[in-house]
Amino acid sequence: MVPRTAREFSPSPPSPPSAPRASFDVVVVGGGVIGLVTAWRAAGRSLRTAVVDPATGEGAARVAAGMLAAVTELHHGEEPLLGLGLASAARWADFAEELAEAAGAGVGYRACGTLAAALDADDRAQLRELHLLQQRCGLDTEWLSGRECRKLEPMLAPGVRGGLRVDGDHQADPRLVTAALLAACERAGVTFLRSWARELTVSGDRARGVVLDDGTAVAAGRTVLAGGSGSGRLGGLPPEVSVPVRPVKGQILRLRITREYAPFLSRTVRAVVRGAQVYLVPRVSGELVIGATSEERGWDTAVTAGGVYQLLRDAHDLVPGVTELPLVETSAGLRPATPDNAPLLGPTALPGLSLATGHHRNGVLLAPITGEALAEVLTTGELPDYARPFAADRFARRGWEVSA
Ligand SMILES: Cc1cc2nc3c(=O)[nH]c(=O)nc-3n(C[C@H](O)[C@H](O)[C@H](O)COP(=O)(O)OP(=O)(O)OC[C@H]3O[C@@H](n4cnc5c(N)ncnc54)[C@H](O)[C@@H]3O)c2cc1C
Repeated sequence: MVPRTAREFSPSPPSPPSAPRASFDVVVVGGGVIGLVTAWRAAGRSLRTAVVDPATGEGAARVAAGMLAAVTELHHGEEPLLGLGLASAARWADFAEELAEAAGAGVGYRACGTLAAALDADDRAQLRELHLLQQRCGLDTEWLSGRECRKLEPMLAPGVRGGLRVDGDHQADPRLVTAALLAACERAGVTFLRSWARELTVSGDRARGVVLDDGTAVAAGRTVLAGGSGSGRLGGLPPEVSVPVRPVKGQILRLRITREYAPFLSRTVRAVVRGAQVYLVPRVSGELVIGATSEERGWDTAVTAGGVYQLLRDAHDLVPGVTELPLVETSAGLRPATPDNAPLLGPTALPGLSLATGHHRNGVLLAPITGEALAEVLTTGELPDYARPFAADRFARRGWEVSA
């Protein structure tokens, strides 16, 4: 099934910009989880805010698993991201409560923890390495024997050789999160312009809003580009603004935990099987998410037999009972990735233009802290200290060539 997130940005023939349809303090290009959280927080600071997107709420978060995995997503060389991830994870419980209240609907936040398991000697050696890295980073994770893993999660395969218990990596339901953000934005008075932004308006060496696909000009004092993997495709970006974001395809499956197998798993279970990541995320709703492939295939969002086979095979090796459950959905989405796998946040070299993009594997995890950081940028012009390592202009400063 090709999800609606797969829609390509295919602008109709350009028409000349009209007089501004409306004027805002802030216009956010992109209504995915990141654009929506930015708009909600901006409106919360009394800024008149608009979101431009023909498919609001239909971005990568519609596909995502929703792991809030600051620790188990830690990779060698990505240590700076760990601090931001942990800071956002620490905000999640309060964020979920505040958002649920603002929207009048829950977001499926579940403080259930994660078990990272190893199936063979190679996987175990790799997991031991990860454990050492976690210890060097001062993280509190516990090594378990295979038997201890199975005691925690009886559905695990008998061959599991050991694992890491990570009690702080939780989950939320990204579809509920975006729906709640949409409702919260509406209640906070955010205007939704259901159109593509064709190009950035630049005059007097400053960003002044965007021109929509039909030629309508939307004026704004501050523009935030939050277009996910499509961010670098916005027209009119001047050469000094580098947006090195590329799409990384992820295929994912949704199964239903039937009554006879409930609760199936009590926490997220994940592993590296034959060198590929696989995870199983059990929701309170009875949904079981199995993800995800990671493929460099440009804008392709086709679900393939090979992708579904790989995920089912690896998930079955880890938790054999999965093949008993009904398979209810397959989908694919595009993670917005940057060269260092970390987001691009805050002001660019062009006054009036900020970025909130490049969240790659962690957009759901990083939503609370991104909203907070961007609200600060939009009101003070400055990124808070915790976000400075992720400054939007860090690649432009290094002379990065955009190849989007
Ligand atoms: C398979 C998979 C599993 C994942 N699992 C997790 C997970 O477990 N935990 C986690 O934290 N993250 C996960 N992610 C990553 C997460 O989904 C993304 O990081 C996040 O959704 C990015 O949000 P975004 O708003 O930046 O971009 P998107 O969700 O891509 O939204 C961008 C929006 O911008 C709009 N847009 C683009 N260009 C324009 C334009 N010119 N004009 C108007 N609108 C425009 C698009 O229509 C789209 O709606 C996963 C992703 C995938 C694909």
